[in-house]
Amino acid sequence: MHILLMGPPGAGKGTQAARLVEEFKIPHISTGDMFRAAVKEGTELGKQAKACMDSGKLVPDNVTIGIVKERLSKADCENGFILDGFPRTVEQAVALDKILSELNLKLDCALNIAVPSSELIRRAVGRRICKKCGSTYHIEFKPSKEDGICDVCGGELYQRADDSEATMKNRLSVYEEQTKPLISYYEKEELYKEVDGSQSMDKVFQDIVAILRS
Ligand SMILES: [Zn+2]
Repeated sequence: MHILLMGPPGAGKGTQAARLVEEFKIPHISTGDMFRAAVKEGTELGKQAKACMDSGKLVPDNVTIGIVKERLSKADCENGFILDGFPRTVEQAVALDKILSELNLKLDCALNIAVPSSELIRRAVGRRICKKCGSTYHIEFKPSKEDGICDVCGGELYQRADDSEATMKNRLSVYEEQTKPLISYYEKEELYKEVDGSQSMDKVFQDIVAILRS
């Protein structure tokens, strides 16, 4: 089960990935984890990536692709993986196809957890976090008993700057612009599948498993 997991920020990708790891016993490979591991292991590519990150530069595509290849070559990927955060562009998708064919692996599915922007904004804008203990609330879906006060510790609840409507709108439009060509790419390869991510986490998971088992 070699899966590419896609989805806009706030679609619950992390939660679904964690459940898929349990269900299918395959590793979840996110770009961030891959970079951190390569840097920690001190591989040549890891060193190059670290030099870029330390100087605040973007890690060039050839380094990113090299790190992905190193990771996907490891034994735990033979039976499957959940790739998350890569590819971000069609160029990277072409590179991924090349890596997989070199490793004699095949992508089974590019799965998108699709959620309308209006819903993602509603989720983000209502989110509140406790300053003291980090408990999370939502003014509509999971309100605290007392307005603005944490049920657990009595701390003050606040809204992260990242969760403002303007920030979310901007992030979502960047994401959409970036993702559209990727969706077309995987549609052409007949690997693209979409689940309705506006449903409950459990229903989304059931739908994903049904697609992957079909
Ligand atoms: Zn608290």
